[in-house]
Amino acid sequence: MAPIWLSSCSSKTTRCTAWCAAPAPRASSGWSISALGCILHQADLLDQLSIVTLLNAVRPHEVYNLAAQSFVPTSFSQPLLTAEFTGLGVTRVLEAIRLVDPKIRFYQASSSEMFGRVQEEPQNESTPFWPRSPYGVAKAYGHWITVNYRESYGMFTCSGILFNHESPLRGKEFVTRKVSDAVARIKLGQQSRLQLGNLDAQRDWGFAGDYVEAMWLMLQQDAPEDYVIATGIKHSVRELVDTAFRHVGLDWQDYVDVDQSLMRPADVSTLCGDASKARMRLGWTPKMSFAELVAIMVDADLERVARAMRG
Ligand code: GDP
Repeated sequence: MAPIWLSSCSSKTTRCTAWCAAPAPRASSGWSISALGCILHQADLLDQLSIVTLLNAVRPHEVYNLAAQSFVPTSFSQPLLTAEFTGLGVTRVLEAIRLVDPKIRFYQASSSEMFGRVQEEPQNESTPFWPRSPYGVAKAYGHWITVNYRESYGMFTCSGILFNHESPLRGKEFVTRKVSDAVARIKLGQQSRLQLGNLDAQRDWGFAGDYVEAMWLMLQQDAPEDYVIATGIKHSVRELVDTAFRHVGLDWQDYVDVDQSLMRPADVSTLCGDASKARMRLGWTPKMSFAELVAIMVDADLERVARAMRG
């Protein structure tokens, strides 16, 4: 039997793609779903029957729910859709599992955005939530409904509270990829300036490939539990920009403008996770450093932009 990985087709659609018949995907620049021999199915997190039909057709032993409207600024402009998709969508998957086969193991992609206005530092599994965006609020719902189905029905459901995880596959709406893409384009003469919002925001950025391993490990344990997955090291957006420009021998201050329109109605100023539980129980540790992560992202964009320029 195969696991199912649910991911969004894009941040603007409620339709999710299920990847089946493959080992846990690992991110790298050469990664593609079809290269892994996956079979693609589609369902919609707003359509209960489509999820039931999907599970009946595939009969997976594990489901990883990574599908969501996951971009924080969009959650302010589309708060109801975000609640339906990112929040209630989790209940629809859980109900489908309960109906089709309650023995299916379920992973919910919870988010450090649930900590929002942080109540302690670093944040661990017992830190109270104080979400600061409709996205964070919807993720908090998804987290608790995952816990609730475990406690109510004895289902094997885990919530992974993952801090920001990045790779060359990250969408350009997120700050890491926006920066790596801009640095590559500026270095190769395709762009002159980079507009950013809050440079003081701090995040605990890790490599998505490391974090996917943690997701998989959670579902291989004897008992379902919730885990924080993080590096434990935070950097500001300013440091991110500095590291990325330095990687190509440029000074960020010559290229970056602060654009007030990119500031959020309520931003999360700092996030830093404590993954001690994952380290002790899962034997998990992040392998890639922040500097290495920024370097592989900038290098991948340099290669992609250069290829596009060659036609
Ligand atoms: P998030 O943590 O899920 O919101 O991930 P993002 O990559 O979208 O944003 C991380 C932080 O970078 C937030 O505090 C943003 O306010 C900050 N930031 C500063 N400038 C930008 C920008 O131009 N785009 C995005 N996406 N974030 C920015």
